[in-house]
Amino acid sequence: MTVRKSNYRSITSLQRDIARCRACLEAGYPLESLPVRAPYFGQRAYMFGQAPGIVEGQERLPWRGRAGQTLRRWLDMDEDEFYRTFYCASVTRCYPGRAPFGRGDRTPTPREQELCSFWRKWELELLRPPLVVTVGGLAARHFLGPLQLTACVGERYEQDGRMVVPLPHPSGASGWLNAPANRLRLERALRLVHAELARL
Ligand code: SF4
Repeated sequence: MTVRKSNYRSITSLQRDIARCRACLEAGYPLESLPVRAPYFGQRAYMFGQAPGIVEGQERLPWRGRAGQTLRRWLDMDEDEFYRTFYCASVTRCYPGRAPFGRGDRTPTPREQELCSFWRKWELELLRPPLVVTVGGLAARHFLGPLQLTACVGERYEQDGRMVVPLPHPSGASGWLNAPANRLRLERALRLVHAELARL
């Protein structure tokens, strides 16, 4: 049963309610996992992806599958450093299942995204991260508005007292990195992430 308070004073209390959220199921959407939870232990930065994959849904922890391995390779971080650095959240928190057509997983509907944004807003309110790293186009648009990845990867944006640095999605389903110019954009973006982390 979904519980949403009108006010949260601690991340622990917020995470307790995220972990049992069933708002999308209650609204009639098919989900194939319980919410993926990110343990919080004082991470400096907030990583914001699209939605968990099947492995993350099974383990209920973020970035456990192949895309997570790619992301850590890009960032040149092992698991320990990665999870110590980033509190990981996403546009939606439950595995949405396979896409009915084509490759990859189902993109959460706008209504599911809206239902889940409640948790993001409270996380940002409570954690006030100085750095947000978005992963993939959908996640970037939730912070930066209707931008294309090509226009924003390799840039940094100051927003509400924090820095936002977009990355592309590391999923094998994305062909965005096939273009050499986009690989250069990714390299620039990764340098920005490390530069911002060094300043924290
Ligand atoms: S995707 Fe988000 S809003 Fe929907 S059930 Fe999972 S945690 Fe709740």
